[in-house]
Amino acid sequence: MLADVWKSFGSVAAVKALDLEIRDREFVSFLGPSGCGKTTTLNMIAGLETPSRGRILMDGGDVTRVPPRLRNFAMVFQGYALYPHMTVAENIGFALRVRNLDRSEIGRRVADAAERLELKDVLGRYPRQLSGGQRQRVALGRAFVRDPHVFLLDEPLSNLDAVLRVQTRVELKRLFAELDTTAVYVTHDQAEAMTMSDRIAVFRHGVLQQFDTPLAIYRSPANLFVATFVGSPPMSVVDATLDEDGSLRLLGAALPLPEPVRARLRTGETYRLGLRAEDLALAPTAAPAMRVDVVEHLGAASIVHLSSPHGRLIAQSGPTEPARAGDVVGVRIDPAMLYLFERQGGTAVL
Ligand code: ATP
Repeated sequence: MLADVWKSFGSVAAVKALDLEIRDREFVSFLGPSGCGKTTTLNMIAGLETPSRGRILMDGGDVTRVPPRLRNFAMVFQGYALYPHMTVAENIGFALRVRNLDRSEIGRRVADAAERLELKDVLGRYPRQLSGGQRQRVALGRAFVRDPHVFLLDEPLSNLDAVLRVQTRVELKRLFAELDTTAVYVTHDQAEAMTMSDRIAVFRHGVLQQFDTPLAIYRSPANLFVATFVGSPPMSVVDATLDEDGSLRLLGAALPLPEPVRARLRTGETYRLGLRAEDLALAPTAAPAMRVDVVEHLGAASIVHLSSPHGRLIAQSGPTEPARAGDVVGVRIDPAMLYLFERQGGTAVL
């Protein structure tokens, strides 16, 4: 648990007023753009950085000033530097040899890690003889054999190509489900965080924006930043004003609002309205009418980029719908699927 944790490097405030409670056996991701304080927070949990202010508690005890080696965490870093002159088996067993475990125990644990990580056939090879994915698994193996209380992973998939990344993501998810242990995972990749985590902590400029389940982050984002950072294609955002007649004016069209939604808004006020691509439908008679700029065919779906003099939207349609660049189409907006944010500050109002 982190209690009012702050960290500054000179004049840079990397982490501000952070309160965060990670539960036992939970898989938590720290998500946010580069420089938002994810790694600094992870390093403070590991003991590699000391908070400027605040406390870090573990199992009820204060570990704020406990050195890393006494915290029983295992870290897997971005660069996963393996020892090039050691075989896979020696790399995996290294931390155990340093701790002077007896040879049969080391052998047992290395074999167990190799089994779980599908590295049995390459135990005698050197890192240079491995694929990127295998090297990544060796780095994980070095953490696993230590049987840590908590895994701390800092962008562990960032050196892999796109296909391998998705594949390894699934393997990691399966592995951590089996291990049933606590893990904190740093990533700037929202898809990784969404697919792997029990809960996601979204950071921006050193400030925790929201800490919730992937679905809650997606469907009930706390503010415009979280809403637009999570989801692919990204949420479209346009201005929308509540008219006297109770409808929402956006992109040159009027959208009637259900009473409970209207009741939350102020007449005459302009909001930022977020729309997810999958919540929009293209229909000839719907309003607003917009021009199709680009259609991206993904196979299972098509991403349709739309524009009008009033603004832009991204919609997702089925693979067979015949939207073509240059067409003018109607966009049907479901009033039950709106995300509304204050124009100033971007806090969610729905
Ligand atoms: P990335 O994904 O790029 O690693 P991050 O979200 O993990 O980003 P941090 O590495 O935690 O971000 O950095 C947060 C801020 O603190 C940044 O502005 C960074 O430049 C600064 N910072 C981090 N470590 C140090 C340091 N040792 N000395 C000075 N500034 C630092």
